[in-house]
Amino acid sequence: MRVCFKVSTLIRRAFTLPVSPSAVGCRAAQSRLFCSAPSSEEKPRPSMLRHLTSKIKATGPITVAEYMREVLTNPVTGYYVRNNMLGPDGDFITSPEISQIFGELIGVWILSEWMGAGQPKQLQLVELGPGKGSLASDVLRVFSQLRSVLGEASVSLHLVEVSPALSRIQAQTLTGNQSQEADTEDELVYRRGETAAGLPVNWYRRLDDVPAGFSIVLAHEFFDALPVHKFQRTPKGWREVLVDIDPEKPEQLRFVAAPAPTLASSTLVQAGERRSHVEVCAEGGVIIQQLARRITEDGGAALIADYGHDGTKTDTFRGFKGHQLHDVLSSPGSADLTADVDFSYLRRMAGGGVACLGPVNQRTFLRNMGIDSRMQVLLRNCSDASTRKQLISSYDVLTNPAKMGERFHFFSLLHPSRLEIPKRPEGLKLEKNPTPAPLPVAGFTELKFS
Ligand code: SAH
Repeated sequence: MRVCFKVSTLIRRAFTLPVSPSAVGCRAAQSRLFCSAPSSEEKPRPSMLRHLTSKIKATGPITVAEYMREVLTNPVTGYYVRNNMLGPDGDFITSPEISQIFGELIGVWILSEWMGAGQPKQLQLVELGPGKGSLASDVLRVFSQLRSVLGEASVSLHLVEVSPALSRIQAQTLTGNQSQEADTEDELVYRRGETAAGLPVNWYRRLDDVPAGFSIVLAHEFFDALPVHKFQRTPKGWREVLVDIDPEKPEQLRFVAAPAPTLASSTLVQAGERRSHVEVCAEGGVIIQQLARRITEDGGAALIADYGHDGTKTDTFRGFKGHQLHDVLSSPGSADLTADVDFSYLRRMAGGGVACLGPVNQRTFLRNMGIDSRMQVLLRNCSDASTRKQLISSYDVLTNPAKMGERFHFFSLLHPSRLEIPKRPEGLKLEKNPTPAPLPVAGFTELKFS
């Protein structure tokens, strides 16, 4: 099949990329999955706790979504705004930080979808929550390796990042010192720069601020960081879970159930819901709707990778600090907060205007993308014993079902035309041409590497 052949060719050509020593030297440590309970008492973070208790005293208990939003993204004291949390010395580690191979395979996926869309002249690569910028950097390395495939297409990078501190780290990774902050705070592009290869890079606070145009959007471990509402089934019906001050210990927070239905509990819990506890990420739903609208209007695709479920799990809200599980209500602002992504909700929010693929687990996706062949090439070209060991260990972390292989999933939004059955060439006899199938989407379909 034509596109099938092209994707596997892309993958083979990308495989000539050398191992980047810094990348293989395992950006690795533990992921958010392999964590033990906290061992020591941490120091409280008075400013965030004080901010939250004053808020609760003034307006009453707050929703878990509001708690999560304040703790993670408050512009002054928020966890993402103040910290560099990724990596061995941080609180958790993600797949792009574990191995360069991950980002390279995503780079090939982007190129294959750009080709599947008919190679538009303009390609906006958009990343939501780029962390340290490692994924975008690995993707761009593939783009420069396969520059001849991109031809005259104009490529630009658009990063949606709430944290000015992380945007500086991303700028360093992607542009060296070739970036500047905006002069005033009200500019939509709050930082702009250029990669060594001359590609423009712009930073935004919101997806809405990214210009319209054919875009491929990446969101890796982004949706799990967005605020969730939590609801509990009670004998009186669904009640929203709120965060309140513990009356016994005024320096501590506790969960309470709202005494009466709230707007959120009446609108966000589905009729006929059978679980007794539900988490709904309304903010994630809005972002999916924005992505779906963009894809319908301007073409393109979105690739979302995260841990999650298909509408089956209940209480997944948890904290991470120093690679260990952390009580979500204790010393707020000092630890990451996260909840599993409900892919069935994202699919519902995407609506009928786009095609949804997945979720498929990370092991399947990476194997479909050719991770095994990539590993073989890297190992064949690598004589250093410790680098070989690192390569094998990072491959294991990414694909082992007991590690990240089955916990993480890939989900995609595509323009509906992408999955249309191609028209049969006119004038050819029926019996020689079996019914054409839709062109396969890399990662979600097994490709043959002949
Ligand atoms: N994608 C990266 C980082 C994941 S951590 C990786 O996989 O390594 C989550 C990222 O999303 C961080 O960069 C954080 O600052 C950003 N983020 C969290 N909430 C956000 C929001 N509401 N808007 C934009 N960025 C956000």
